[in-house]
Amino acid sequence: MKKRILLLAGGQSGEHEVSLMSARSVLNALPRDQFDVTPVVISKQGRWLPPTETQRALESGEAPTGGDLVLHRAASAEGYDAVFPLLHGPMGEDGTVQGLLTLAGIPFVGSGVLGSAVSMDKIMTKQVLASAGIPQVAWALAVRREWQAQPDTVRERAAALGYPLFVKPANLGSSVGISKVARAEDLDGALNLAFSLDRRVILEAMTAHKPREVEVGILGNDAPIASPVGELRFDADFYDYETKYTEGRASMHIPAPLPPEVAEQIRTLALRAFRALDCAGLARVDFFYVEETGELLLNEVNTMPGFTTTSMYPKLFEAAGLNYSALVTRLVELALEDR
Ligand code: ADP
Ligand code: MG
Ligand code: MG
Repeated sequence: MKKRILLLAGGQSGEHEVSLMSARSVLNALPRDQFDVTPVVISKQGRWLPPTETQRALESGEAPTGGDLVLHRAASAEGYDAVFPLLHGPMGEDGTVQGLLTLAGIPFVGSGVLGSAVSMDKIMTKQVLASAGIPQVAWALAVRREWQAQPDTVRERAAALGYPLFVKPANLGSSVGISKVARAEDLDGALNLAFSLDRRVILEAMTAHKPREVEVGILGNDAPIASPVGELRFDADFYDYETKYTEGRASMHIPAPLPPEVAEQIRTLALRAFRALDCAGLARVDFFYVEETGELLLNEVNTMPGFTTTSMYPKLFEAAGLNYSALVTRLVELALEDR
């Protein structure tokens, strides 16, 4: 019997279009003799689109308005063997959709409510990973109300970290709302931007030198494996939105040219983080490697990383001998695995 798979794509976050691209790749790759795949695109307004509108959105890359309220449509997810929530960012990768699917009793690809929610939130991730003894940059938390009522305490916290520093909304991705602040004079603008997007903001010390950015893929549930390590190189001050999504601005290097013991340490730390955060299925774990000092710092864990055929995560496993189609098949098997 073919497995019936519901593929969710699009979604309400700034990464809507990225998700549609990933979904097109996955749709083409799930073997038709094993899987019967139905895509459903979620519009930017959060509505689940019926089949013709979904098809149109997948082809044009633009979701129309209209569609059904999520709760109405979720009932029609009944009868599927598994759901592949190929959604990035808030309202998709953060435990919300995972909670809905858990309530509906349908197995799904990737982390559950806890792992998704904690990994999406940069502050919670830092706290959990600190208690697991994983090295990270120094950081501090600020909440919007505090910024409005006592801005000086927030400014002092920033000064204690030193400049330059990074200001980031706690719950976003794709570098949206992130600023690198070189001088105290630029702090307020960066905080105003981050607080316009999130109630909680993280301030992060910058690594001592511009870091190399290295990433590793994790695959599995309670016996996860790590891929080879990859590196991203780009010609920009940091890996901002424009650099991420402008063709030709960044290049991937797999395997990353690193001393073997550093690559091994990256894989070990990534597996430890995956377990500490209670992730499942897949994650891409991103690190900063400061070549000058030999420091290795975990930056973030993405529980639903970019998934086109040319994205880092699938490329990392391709280098490990698992092609794209075998990888998505394995992810569905992991969703259906008894744990
Ligand atoms: P996102 O989840 O949006 O990808 P990141 O935390 O990965 O956000 O930050 C985006 C980019 O900003 C990183 O890839 C890196 O280039 C730069 N960056 C972020 N934090 C730091 C830091 N503490 N030190 C140096 N560079 C950083
Ligand atoms: Mg991220
Ligand atoms: Mg990142």
